[in-house]
Amino acid sequence: MTTMHSDKPTPQSDVTIRAKALLNRFYGYRDFRPGQLDIIKSIMSGRDTLVLMPTGGGKSICYQIPAMLGEGCTIVVSPLISLMKDQVSGLNANGIPAAAINSNNAEIDNQTALREAMRGKIKLLYMSPERLMLEMEHVDFRGWVDLFAIDEAHCISQWGHDFRPEYAALGLIKNRMGKIPVMALTATADKLTRDDIVRQLSLADPYIYISSFDRPNLSLRVMASPPKKQKIAYISRLIDRYPDDSGIVYTLSRKGAETVNAELQLKGYKSIVYHAGLSASERDRAQEMFINGEVQAVCATVAFGMGIDKSNIRWVVHYNMPRNIESYYQEIGRAGRDGLKAETTLFYSYADVATLQSFINESGQQEINSEKLKRMMDYCESQICRRRMLLSYFNEVLDHDCHNCDVCLSPPDRFDGTVPAQMALSAIVRTGEKAGKQMIIDILRGSARAELIKLQYDKLKTYGVGRMISFAEWSEYVSQLIQLGAIDIAYDESNHLKLTTYGQKILKSEVKVMLARPHKEPGEKKSSAKKKKAEPVNPAEKLFSELKSLRKEIATREGIPPYLVFTDKTLMDMVKRRPVTMNEFIQVEGVGERKCVKYWAPFTSLIKNFI
Ligand code: ADP
Ligand code: ZN
Repeated sequence: MTTMHSDKPTPQSDVTIRAKALLNRFYGYRDFRPGQLDIIKSIMSGRDTLVLMPTGGGKSICYQIPAMLGEGCTIVVSPLISLMKDQVSGLNANGIPAAAINSNNAEIDNQTALREAMRGKIKLLYMSPERLMLEMEHVDFRGWVDLFAIDEAHCISQWGHDFRPEYAALGLIKNRMGKIPVMALTATADKLTRDDIVRQLSLADPYIYISSFDRPNLSLRVMASPPKKQKIAYISRLIDRYPDDSGIVYTLSRKGAETVNAELQLKGYKSIVYHAGLSASERDRAQEMFINGEVQAVCATVAFGMGIDKSNIRWVVHYNMPRNIESYYQEIGRAGRDGLKAETTLFYSYADVATLQSFINESGQQEINSEKLKRMMDYCESQICRRRMLLSYFNEVLDHDCHNCDVCLSPPDRFDGTVPAQMALSAIVRTGEKAGKQMIIDILRGSARAELIKLQYDKLKTYGVGRMISFAEWSEYVSQLIQLGAIDIAYDESNHLKLTTYGQKILKSEVKVMLARPHKEPGEKKSSAKKKKAEPVNPAEKLFSELKSLRKEIATREGIPPYLVFTDKTLMDMVKRRPVTMNEFIQVEGVGERKCVKYWAPFTSLIKNFI
């Protein structure tokens, strides 16, 4: 029997003191984040626990600390073998004994790890769900396992956005080993999935912790149908802003990922591609390069990113509209895990909507998925604070504007747009509602392109009436009219535009309509990676950059990703405190005992030299 389920449970206050001591000693963190301690206490009292926290919220510590508090071992179930290594290295770097059992290792090493874990020498043992099921056939987990932690627990639910059949069998854990507590962790918040996790895992009267899903350090931005050139220029500017860090470009298709990647490489950026069409070894290689900070951008389909713990992703761009808000939030959530500022931008267009709708038509659960897509569109077209809207989607109320989204930062400048609206609506009527957005704008602007002439649209009365307004502005106004419900898009008729009753009222001058003036994009600077990297200007930046180089050197030598040596946040704290002795070094946030002993000399001497 282990301490966790002995007859005389440890007093809770004692758990608090011990847990905090471990947090300081092994992680170098001063305090728990909200919820972490309650979750730890719940597990230590032997209760099943469900943890819902956004990506970067700090879920790992919730099972890692209990693992160290108990005498036995914690089994961590994690879906991706390729990423277990990273997590194990991270724990080992902090001096915590951990190992993974999986098919990438030699079988003899797996057996050794299992034996060590049974002898209490390994505190955290990572396994894939299928491996756990296999081991359960012939290994008795009772007596030496204190806790099962199921990471990415939403994979068990068909309601979630990432159902994995191999998770389905995990319900057996509770059925066979009812006394050992189970902790399920996920960043997916919706109630349906949450209830399903509890049911599928047979959690008994679980303690459920739901944290706020707000991630105030992520900026939110949405741009309606920018042309391709502008999208690439935008991404280039992002890379230029964070030349030593990395970001992710998500595209809808493999081909899209390839194209963007080629464009970025052509401009001289260090970019790679990642999608399910690559071989397993190509994918692993790409992932490794990304994790080790060897590339500035990865252009990927949504196949990329689950389980990636890289803490210093500084930006995420959705090159196309995501299929629902859950996926979107999870994908942008991969940025800024270290709590430092990170930028997220979404480009969307009606072509994306049509593509996504066609995926949905071929899938099961059409109704739910169409509804989710609609909510995604509402978000894109929102004229209110985007963070408020996002959080309300997750049933959370933010009672103030965030000042870190595009709507808050440049609130719409509205004007009486009845006249331009009538021009557009009239053009739609005159084409017999048989034209798409681009054609309508071309008619308004009097374009002479062949298809337009062939259809004799140049004979329409509205031809050329909107010449004085740019294409981009028209595009905005038509989008707004769609959003306001004056125009409908017939997705099943090649995205042709139709008038709604409200649109007819505007056309007949029965009502006025207010439109928002489009925002000017900041002047496009020509960007090329080949230009000399800007030298850091102020001393703090210079020190930060030197610390990063030292970190990179150490990481390369040890064969681990730089952020496992120290996170950016820890380096920032070093910049602030400028520790020059060992005693000062251990005060830095994120410096635990092991790393202090190992790294104080090179880092403090760099700082001494710098001062
Ligand atoms: P999640 O698994 O929820 O996505 P992580 O467990 O990877 O998040 O935690 C995100 C980051 O926050 C990590 O760098 C982690 O070390 C850090 N972190 C977690 N808890 C704390 C804490 N109490 N104080 C400071 N940093 C913390
Ligand atoms: Zn806002």
